[in-house]
Amino acid sequence: MLEATGLMVFYENMLALNNINIKCGVNQIIGVFGANSAGKSTLMYTLSGIMQDIQKKEAMAGGERITLMGEIRYMGEDISGLKPSQRARKGIVLCPERRRIFNESSVLENLKIGGYLASSSEARDTLEYVFKIFPPLEKLKKRIGGFLSGGEQQMLAIGRALMAQPKILLLDEPLMGLSPLMQAELILATKGICDEMKLSIIITEQYARPVLPIVDYAYILENGSAVMEGSKQELMDNPDVRSAYFGIEES
Ligand code: ATP
Repeated sequence: MLEATGLMVFYENMLALNNINIKCGVNQIIGVFGANSAGKSTLMYTLSGIMQDIQKKEAMAGGERITLMGEIRYMGEDISGLKPSQRARKGIVLCPERRRIFNESSVLENLKIGGYLASSSEARDTLEYVFKIFPPLEKLKKRIGGFLSGGEQQMLAIGRALMAQPKILLLDEPLMGLSPLMQAELILATKGICDEMKLSIIITEQYARPVLPIVDYAYILENGSAVMEGSKQELMDNPDVRSAYFGIEES
């Protein structure tokens, strides 16, 4: 469904993504794990087209700081040159790191803004679905976004992304700063979304432990390079992954 090959991103002379090859099939959940600064957000920005946008804006302002290379194919089509809005219309939707909801707008307004690409019947059905998977949002629909808890804000960020009718949802560190209980709830909801909405998901996180149970395949990034990849079982069986990403020391 989505296949990126040879992705390279430089910020000036700093290599942020080094020859990344990543695939996501129909109705799959793909994990991308890595420490701070491993390149997770850079990868998500590159797949969603935001990196290309930032690069163009910099070039128009006279700077040439960001260099991008590689190819991204989506349903067989080379989309490497498409803008983020064109990719979103095709169903590639990013739910960015640190939530990025509209703090001044209500929960309902945030969700409706997310649905600008949807027909009115799609928006109505998706809103109903978002309230079904995240019941607190229905109770809080008039609450201003900035007054929500971290977990509620993350539900809203995912709900807003769903309103854009994704076929492939890019979830960048959705668990950041949340309690273990809220993390478990969100992971369960993520699996439910994949199964019920029949979409594909690429999810990044620092720690694999809460996410690994729901992934079909995962990649481990270190300093911009994919140092390991494999099925859930292959990664769980690897002692280096267990200690670095699960906090489990081998005896
Ligand atoms: P985190 O978990 O902290 O969000 P990450 O894995 O998402 O980290 P990125 O944000 O992709 O990592 O950053 C990868 C590297 O690129 C880091 O060293 C970061 O400092 C650098 N970087 C990111 N954005 C820029 C930018 N606009 N200009 C220069 N360097 C950048």
